[in-house]
Amino acid sequence: MFIVMEPNAEEGDLARVEERIRSLGLTPHRIPGGYRTAIAVTGNVDPVPKERFDGLANVSEIISVTRPYKRASRESRAKDTTIEVKGRKIGGSRFCLIGGPCAVEDADQIRKTAEAVKAAGGLFLRGGAVKPRSSPYTFQGLGEEGYRLLHEAGRDLGLVTVSEVVDAETVDQARDYIDILQVGSRNMQNYSLLKIVGSQNKPILLKRGASATLEEFLLSAEHIMAAGNGQIVLCERGIRTFSDFQRCTFDVSVIPEIKSRSHLPIIADPSHAAGKRSMIRPLARAAISAGADGIMVEMHVRPQEALSDGCQSLHPEELTDLFEEMGRLAPFFHKKVERE
Ligand code: PEP
Ligand code: MN
Repeated sequence: MFIVMEPNAEEGDLARVEERIRSLGLTPHRIPGGYRTAIAVTGNVDPVPKERFDGLANVSEIISVTRPYKRASRESRAKDTTIEVKGRKIGGSRFCLIGGPCAVEDADQIRKTAEAVKAAGGLFLRGGAVKPRSSPYTFQGLGEEGYRLLHEAGRDLGLVTVSEVVDAETVDQARDYIDILQVGSRNMQNYSLLKIVGSQNKPILLKRGASATLEEFLLSAEHIMAAGNGQIVLCERGIRTFSDFQRCTFDVSVIPEIKSRSHLPIIADPSHAAGKRSMIRPLARAAISAGADGIMVEMHVRPQEALSDGCQSLHPEELTDLFEEMGRLAPFFHKKVERE
């Protein structure tokens, strides 16, 4: 629910509305606008009767929001949100290209990969330093050293860095090194992690859980926003289905649906959806035509030697071709790929 105040509402009017909200056991959140202030109400399971706010001065309108994710919802903000980091934009009219290895493996690998991403026209470099893997016996990532190596490669080549965090400790380690913190699909419903990244002053790339509904996905974004961080980029990375020929099923339909329900940018990760190199390009085409704000793809200088996800990692020249094609397609979908 939103309580929209009259333009001439004074501090005392706002405070009285907030007091009434608290007296109902609910939480008020002020949303100052250019013209007037709205107060969002959270904490209610059932709709709050509008009569509860009778008699309060300078209340213009009471809008019931049916969606449980208020801040992430289009109803709270009609305009697309654009995330800006180091002068680079994600969302709005931009189509962003993020490339890099599944995992940072060593200084030479990440440096060469960064050079290839830059040569392909990408402005964002990804690379995992902590890898939540299904098996404890596979490569788990370099940890803090991985963040540092990614940072150095990004800094030297002028690329914005993206890397996953999994807990308070890794958020602390990544804070000084990484530009965009990724919450992976396995942690989409790790609410204590969502709260931690919600307290950071950095953009968050939130990946959809492999079995998460759209509502759960947006509610996870809501957790981050409710904790104070509105800089969120959503990422569709495939969901579990009965399909037996690919790692996950790329849910292309979620992109237009999220666009209509939320103002947050949404990008696609065809690499983890497909799990195989040959499907990355067709799925990237599907994503851009469905209205995605960008793609994030895995690439390795020597995929056959990759310590994780080699079979879904593009070769550098394939990344160049893909990024070049995205640049050509973007204007058909009212987007533009930003170049150096
Ligand atoms: C990743 O992007 O490195 C990753 C592990 O992806 P996901 O969380 O989508 O599986
Ligand atoms: Mn991977």
